[in-house]
Amino acid sequence: MSDLLTVSNLSVRYPSREKTGWGKPKSYVSAVDDVSFSIARGETLGLVGESGSGKTTLGLSVLRGVEPSAGRIQLTLPRGTLDVTALSSKELRRARRHFQMIFQDPYASLNPRMTVRDIISEPLIAQRGLGESLDRAMINARVVDIAQRCGLSRDQLRRFPHAFSGGQRQRIAIARALVLNPDLVVCDEPISALDVSIQAQILNLLAELQESLGLTYLFIAHDLAAVAYVCDRVAVMYLGQIVELGPTRSVYFTPKHPYTEALMSAVPEPDPDATLRPILLQGERPDPSNPPSGCRFHTRCRYATELCATAAPTLREVANGQFAACHYATELTLQGAQDLRERKDERVAV
Ligand code: SF4
Repeated sequence: MSDLLTVSNLSVRYPSREKTGWGKPKSYVSAVDDVSFSIARGETLGLVGESGSGKTTLGLSVLRGVEPSAGRIQLTLPRGTLDVTALSSKELRRARRHFQMIFQDPYASLNPRMTVRDIISEPLIAQRGLGESLDRAMINARVVDIAQRCGLSRDQLRRFPHAFSGGQRQRIAIARALVLNPDLVVCDEPISALDVSIQAQILNLLAELQESLGLTYLFIAHDLAAVAYVCDRVAVMYLGQIVELGPTRSVYFTPKHPYTEALMSAVPEPDPDATLRPILLQGERPDPSNPPSGCRFHTRCRYATELCATAAPTLREVANGQFAACHYATELTLQGAQDLRERKDERVAV
């Protein structure tokens, strides 16, 4: 499969609120620091890490929802390569038909004053305003088709969001994101605001839509079981950097970075009689405006040596398709989330 998205050396820095006497920011918080990865067409890449690791900022910056401070984002489309970082604001609005986002909270992301039909058709009408030739019949046909694919009936298009449950609202949000038939969809914690009983339905819906529409997903989540279920590969973030990247099975069962090992030890155990052996990380998460020297994880890593405090490891391939940013990635024998083995192979029934 050829790459659809290529991200090279992407950084996002936010200025601190404190100013110098000259009115300039005293420091910068590096939310994403020199991140590079790619996603193949039709693939799902998971992005995991604890709160504040930079997952959502990275997802937003890929769509230019926040402006990158440095780096390049490219989409390889049938008609040629689109340099997303170089687009003017008008070009960016037009290019949004190629990439869309599904947000975490379906209660906050839908306008309560608009009918479901108006909500789903909004992106099409915006594209028509930018010069796309779309008449009312074409818009209507597209809205009905995507709504039905998302499990919504024609009758429901006349109603307002308040008449729907959380799972149905997320179906509306998914229909709105997919109505332009985008190439890339960034899913930002798409199930975390939903009841557990509904989460499997939405995951299955995303998987079905990916298959039928040929979608590519960047799937951001802190639910490691959900990521294992839907993702082909996983990237693990810590303090704004990718510390491990590889096929889902490899990252879960044979992690090569100590932070991944700690994350995997916290994956919920489905057997109520089994006991979890979580690896408790030492200390607090460091301040992102003043990250530790050398390996950023060294203040909490149980394998750290003197070298780790002074030399920053680079992300390098340490096994087949598996990359890790750890000096000792090939020497350490780390524990994986073995208990997920059965769950990954089973599709949850809708
Ligand atoms: Fe731990 Fe050192 Fe590896 Fe960093 S480089 S993850 S501190 S062992």
